[in-house]
Amino acid sequence: MILIEHAVVVSMDAERRIFRDGSVLVDGRDVVQIGRAADVRPPRPPDRVIDGRNRLVLPGFVNTHVHLSEHMNRGVMADEIAVDRYMADWLIPLYSAMTPEDEACAATLACLEMIRTGTTTFCEAGTLFDVGAVADAVARLGMRAVLGRWTWDMAGARGRMRYSTDEALRRNDEMIAAVKDRGDGRIAAWPLLLGFGTCSEELIRGAHALADKHGTGWGMMHLASHPSRKTNDTMPLATLDALGVLDARTKLTHMVYVSAGDIALLARRGVHVVHCPTAALKHTKGLGEHGRFPEMLAAGVGVSLGGDSGNGSNHFDMLRLMHVTALVSKDARLDTRVMPPETVLEMATVHGAAALGLGREVGSLEPGKRADLVMFDLDTPEWRPLVDPVNSLVYAASGASVRTVMIDGRVVLDDGRITTIDETAVYRRIETLSREHIARAGVPVTPRWPVVS
Ligand SMILES: [Zn+2]
Repeated sequence: MILIEHAVVVSMDAERRIFRDGSVLVDGRDVVQIGRAADVRPPRPPDRVIDGRNRLVLPGFVNTHVHLSEHMNRGVMADEIAVDRYMADWLIPLYSAMTPEDEACAATLACLEMIRTGTTTFCEAGTLFDVGAVADAVARLGMRAVLGRWTWDMAGARGRMRYSTDEALRRNDEMIAAVKDRGDGRIAAWPLLLGFGTCSEELIRGAHALADKHGTGWGMMHLASHPSRKTNDTMPLATLDALGVLDARTKLTHMVYVSAGDIALLARRGVHVVHCPTAALKHTKGLGEHGRFPEMLAAGVGVSLGGDSGNGSNHFDMLRLMHVTALVSKDARLDTRVMPPETVLEMATVHGAAALGLGREVGSLEPGKRADLVMFDLDTPEWRPLVDPVNSLVYAASGASVRTVMIDGRVVLDDGRITTIDETAVYRRIETLSREHIARAGVPVTPRWPVVS
């Protein structure tokens, strides 16, 4: 039993209560009591008491679209590379050269980054080859996750990246069964399709049927995404709907180009949408001009946030994603009332949990839910003065003030220290692996400024 006492607690419960002097009591993997410090009474002396004075407690963030493997070559792609050459000239050669150790090490780095910035649950966008190695890495770090594998049946794909429809479905079927309940039940796998016009109708129907068979969600990862790929990635939503695959277990990512009719359809079917603001901006998707996320939210569509990839957004820090989300729509609409910080925090927590079918387990701090939480150090410049905690969180705070993170009742970041693995060894290893990996892929890395060694 762990008692966190005398903290500012932002519960994200149904009433959105914030306790100025609050406590959270954790027993095993669950929150058992939460409320005013004076009202939280442990039935027996806790094993540990964490002093919450000058700390703010929040439910851990849920990042609903991250490419773990691409952290191995984060930042390789220079700005001048044309968007329509990303896949063919860069990502496919890099992806094809991944080893199981590369994938596990990249996943470990990504998890460290997420934990250190307050994320406790994520949805993978598609491990390339070795989901088992990634599941082991994620389990070791103690995170909660939905994993998936790179899935398409695109004609023209070559080498290790080529899959027939049957093969793609069979590999997903095997993966879901193998990953089920890994990490003490914290890890699951879903059929997650790449999108971008790389999936046949048969594959889309097959993925939905697999989700039915295993009782999971499913996702189409990159839809309605970029103007330069208009012919390929703008499969009309109505076409997907006609296949009978849009429902409350469906997660669609990017969704920058949607009509009023699309929004009504998404709301009617209960489809979950992932907004990847930093990737959209960096990849010039026309977010400010075309994005209709405020309208989706107003229509009742659950919109969550995704960090995307090591060369798309280049980070998985939910604080930075929330900050950008709150700002972009305001400027685009010339209206400061659009995307208030409370809405953005809901996207990062309760909407994310619902998108992953985990709405009953995580996303808010309530008795009976899992103890997934993050503690910020309020004795840092960015948090002072503490007038409105949600305003400070979205507009002023950064991941640097995250001090302690608990997942499933286990402290995985303890007052700034990762408790599960030797973090420094990971940083050393990824430098070596990344150099070897990029050389194997044969892509040129040429910094614009002279690097003196
Ligand atoms: Zn993506």
